[in-house]
Order: sequence, then structure tokens, then C-alpha cells
Amino acid sequence: SDEEASAALDIGHDLGRAVLNARSFEREQQAAAYRQQLIATMAHELKNPLAAVGGYLDMLEMFLAEEPGTGTQVQRSLRGIGRATRRLDDIVADLLTLARFDEAADPASLEPHDLGALLHDVVDGLAVQADARGIRVQVHLPSQQALVDADPSDLERLVVNLVSNAVKYSHDGGEVDVHLEAAPPTVVLRVVDRGIGIDPAEKQRLFEEFYRSADPAAASQPGTGLGLAIVHRVVHHLGGRIDVESAPGEGSVFTVTLPGSRV
Ligand code: ADP
Repeated sequence: SDEEASAALDIGHDLGRAVLNARSFEREQQAAAYRQQLIATMAHELKNPLAAVGGYLDMLEMFLAEEPGTGTQVQRSLRGIGRATRRLDDIVADLLTLARFDEAADPASLEPHDLGALLHDVVDGLAVQADARGIRVQVHLPSQQALVDADPSDLERLVVNLVSNAVKYSHDGGEVDVHLEAAPPTVVLRVVDRGIGIDPAEKQRLFEEFYRSADPAAASQPGTGLGLAIVHRVVHHLGGRIDVESAPGEGSVFTVTLPGSRV
């Protein structure tokens, strides 16, 4: 009948659409896998020549230190090359961290780590950077441990990137608060700054690899645009979530919720 024929056509149509959807899904997956592979290859290829540049730079500095009458121009150029090399080193380290996630272990097999102890270490490590600009970083810890099953270096990248952003994008003399809460079955980390803030239109792009704000106040700070991409990867790898609340000119709050350790 006509009805049967039209039903058959509908089925055919739906099937066709399903096939097309599956193909575009496959293409997206392939593109994502390709991008991932490209990042890993780039990072590994850049690592060795960069290490060589660093090594020759050290040698040059040694030779020139013994050479009488080396001009300040030469010294200045050397310092400039040194800074640029360190910056490239940072970028490659970030890329390698991103690439490593393909090979990362299952979170279930990882050891419990106290996020509170780690927070203290991270904030200590950022003290020089914060003090130089008169920024006070305060840590608020829960009375009990906040244990998370994770690779400790992943947890460290997560916390370093969030707290160093809060410092970087604060005004001189500003305040940063880092709150940790053990809220079984979850652990909640909240990084609060009163800095330059984020335009609502930019919010969903923040976690993209290499994305940096066009805001001149943000762009004047050094960065790779990889920090939050790494944070996002770590959070999802651990089965958690991240939320951002922010208003331009008022500051930002990054909230990370992670599953607590099962021990
Ligand atoms: P970057 O290396 O540029 O800091 P991230 O991936 O860590 O890269 O951050 C991406 C962008 O998000 C930054 O360039 C900045 O514009 C914005 N951003 C991140 N954290 C903050 C913050 N706490 N306050 C304001 N802007 C932020």
C-alpha cells in the first residue's frame, strides 16, 4: 500500500541519516585523534633541538665570560635568547603533558593523594611570583584530608595552572583565595581571584588548546593558552567537572569537583 511504501521510505531516510551521522562522527573522531597525534609528535620533535640550543647557550656564556671586552650588547642578546629558550621549554613541557594523557593510567588503579598537602606545596612554589607583585594567596583547608585517586603529577598540573592563572590575571596588590572542601563523596577545589575577569563570550573557548583572550590586559601576561586545556583534561580524566563564574573587571572563580578517593 501507499502507507507501507511511505513507511519504508521513512525508514530508508532515517537509515541514510544515521549512516551520514555515523560517518561525520567517525570523521570528527579521526580529526581529534590526528590532532592529538600531531601534538605528541611536535612536542617530542621539539624537545631535543631545544635542549641543544640550551646547552650551546650555556657554553657560549662560559666562553664569553672568559673573553675580555665582551660588550653589553652581546650580553643582552644572550639574556634575550635565554628567556626565549626557557619560554619554548615551558611550551614544550605543556605539550608533553597534554600528549601524555593518551597513555595515562586508569584512575581506578591510582593511589590516593591529599590535595591539601599538595596545595600548600604549590602555593609555596608560586610565592616568588606572587610576592613580586604584592599579591597575597591564602589557602583555606578542611579539617580532614581531601583524598583523590590520581597521578600526583596530574594533580599538580591541575592546581599549578589554576592558582598561577589566578595570580597572573590579578591586579598588583590583589588577593587570591584557594578553598578546599571535603564533601564526601566529592572533593571541591575553588580558586577565587579579584582580577581582570573573563568576558562571558569567551567562557566556552577558555579550555581549548592554545586559546588566549584577546583582552589586552590578559594578552600582556605571558602564557601558552595550554594551561586550562590541561586542567580540563585532568579533571575529565579523573571523572570530575569544572565550572567558571566570572565578571569582567571583578574577578573569576574556578570550581573543580572531583570524586573523592574510594579508600
Ligand atoms: P594562558 O597560558 O594564556 O594563561 P590558559 O589556558 O591557562 O592559558 O588560559 C586561557 C585564557 O583564559 C588566558 O589567556 C586568559 O585570557 C583566560 N584566563 C584564565 N584564567 C583566568 C583568570 N583567573 N582570570 C582571567 N582570565 C583568565
